[in-house]
Amino acid sequence: ALAYAKERGRNQISQYGAAHEREAMLETHLPYAAKRGELFLVYQPKVDLTSDTVMGVEALIRWKHPLLGVIPPNEFIPLAEKRGLICEITQWVIETAAKQGKLWQDFGLSGFKISVNLSPYSLKHAQIVEQVPALLQQAHFPPQDFILEVTETGLIENVEKGRAVLNGLRAKGIQIAMDDFGVGFSSLSYLRNLPISILKVDRSFTARIDQDEKDAMIVQTIVQLAKSMQFHIVVEGVETAEQVQVLRQMGSLIAQGYFFSKPLASGEITDWLLERKK
Ligand code: C2E
Ligand code: CA
Ligand code: CA
Ligand code: CA
Repeated sequence: ALAYAKERGRNQISQYGAAHEREAMLETHLPYAAKRGELFLVYQPKVDLTSDTVMGVEALIRWKHPLLGVIPPNEFIPLAEKRGLICEITQWVIETAAKQGKLWQDFGLSGFKISVNLSPYSLKHAQIVEQVPALLQQAHFPPQDFILEVTETGLIENVEKGRAVLNGLRAKGIQIAMDDFGVGFSSLSYLRNLPISILKVDRSFTARIDQDEKDAMIVQTIVQLAKSMQFHIVVEGVETAEQVQVLRQMGSLIAQGYFFSKPLASGEITDWLLERKK
């Protein structure tokens, strides 16, 4: 038993070692990822359940590491924040997504919306109020079709500054979505004080909406609240036809999730969009 425990201990150490090595490697390589063209975006459609049309896509970042393969954002965005690389990456994301959005609009998808996730760190930098509109202008993408998704966690630290930045962006025509709604702490006061036009219901509420009456009631209540405040509602993490069925009964909603499509690379999503338009 002792030998077994020792063996297990060694395995744990080497597992820890491997995870640590991986993180160290990612951290060392991250500053070069953008220059080497290793970053790319995937896009996930958002479907208006009333008209059954695709109203836009959310851009999600990926990093194709030459040795470790595709790295998800939850793994390298925190490193980028820690290493002060997030502003550079965010700029790249906005530029790339806006150029792609312009192509789609030129294909005839007029009013097609593009959303991009904004790191909480970006809200500390007042210059993004000028930067984001400038990037959109360079890409010839209309700001009123551009959505920035922010989370509550991003606002807790400095609500005043965050609000000023968001107001500035809103004044330039850009829309603000509150992401992961419902999982934070002071959600309701944010709704009152921030220039939000879209609420995204966190997918932890969606998962059991067709099985658990309480979860369905929570979503229904958020939907009613959002409606009375004239927000658009996006329900995240929709995976099954049963969930769509339940959501349709709740009124006019936008849905996003694997049921419609996983996030896809630009070529694949373009095919998907054109196929659906037929
Ligand atoms: P998020 O903004 O809440 O994005 C939704 C996440 O849920 C995405 O994971 C998406 O692939 C996943 N998802 C979508 N539909 C379903 C579904 O039906 N079921 C399940 N189980 N999952 C679904 P992803 O792409 O790994 O992104 C994770 C998080 O990383 C995002 O959460 C966002 O906070 C952050 N992120 C992604 N791209 C960027 C970026 O360009 N910049 C920044 N700062 N953060 C980003
Ligand atoms: Ca998001
Ligand atoms: Ca979310
Ligand atoms: Ca999230």
